[in-house]
Amino acid sequence: MSEMTDEQKLRLERNRHLIEKQNEDKQKLQMRMNKIKHKIAVISGKGGVGKSTVTINLAAAFAQKGYAVGVLDADIHGPSVPRLLGLTGRQVKMGPPGVFPVPGPLGIRVISIDFFLPEEVPTIWRGPLKMGAIRQFLEDIVWGDLDMLFIDLPPGTGDEPLTIAQLLPEMDGVIVVTMPSELSSTIVKKAITFALRLKMPIIGVVENMSGFVCPHCSTRTEIFRSGGGRKMAEDSGVSFLGSIPIDSTVGVDADQGKPFAVTHPESAAAKAFSEVVANVDSYLKEREQRLKPKPDVKP
Ligand code: ADP
Repeated sequence: MSEMTDEQKLRLERNRHLIEKQNEDKQKLQMRMNKIKHKIAVISGKGGVGKSTVTINLAAAFAQKGYAVGVLDADIHGPSVPRLLGLTGRQVKMGPPGVFPVPGPLGIRVISIDFFLPEEVPTIWRGPLKMGAIRQFLEDIVWGDLDMLFIDLPPGTGDEPLTIAQLLPEMDGVIVVTMPSELSSTIVKKAITFALRLKMPIIGVVENMSGFVCPHCSTRTEIFRSGGGRKMAEDSGVSFLGSIPIDSTVGVDADQGKPFAVTHPESAAAKAFSEVVANVDSYLKEREQRLKPKPDVKP
């Protein structure tokens, strides 16, 4: 057999290093992710339907119940989690084990691209950072032991959900946020089909901005035709988690970086939201029970 040339030896060596690095990364990812009991992604067909609002309020509601909760803002182009949790301008801290998430209200551990970048980084620079950043958010962040990690994915069916699905095949499921005006279109159905194709289980659909409850007289007014979310979910064979009305408390609390679900529990939005929380909670408990290793039964 002929001897290998120097170039072939070099290539072989380079490939060996590459495979070693990939294996190391995989182990690191597994080591970090094994400490997180539940991973839940939140998606929507398009922007502005309240996806980030639902994400941070779910995180806050579960944190208030005493769970250890993290939020990963996977929206590299338009991150809004830091603003919604009152963490604008904060930066991550680094230590020997890796990068530490920024502690938010109720001890929620938060990671967003904005904690790494100087403010006002042009959108055009964010694109190339995208895939590497999401991978690193999972591999290099010292999340520690968490009961649940909520992942706020960008709207639509782009590369980010694909990366997350590949890196987290053990994902508990996806929550689809929609609003009544979006229901007649195929946007939501596309998002559902996309999640199913990626083999991510669907926890259910949340219909946000469903009717308006007057803060003065508590009269409910239908701005868009509500109730379609339940029907759409039924038609698509997925669960309906609940609907949240348009409520000025939501916007005012968001501007102050506070989650309405815990800041104003008496508001119409928070009361409606508690149904969503209860449904997500029972989904996770039921799934945990179902996946629990069965004890060996000796004959
Ligand atoms: P997305 O993440 O889907 O782009 P956001 O969560 O950023 O949407 O919400 C978009 C805007 O709508 C924000 O200003 C938010 O405060 C407001 N909003 C969301 N849900 C409600 C609601 N139920 N009532 C009133 N305002 C809401």
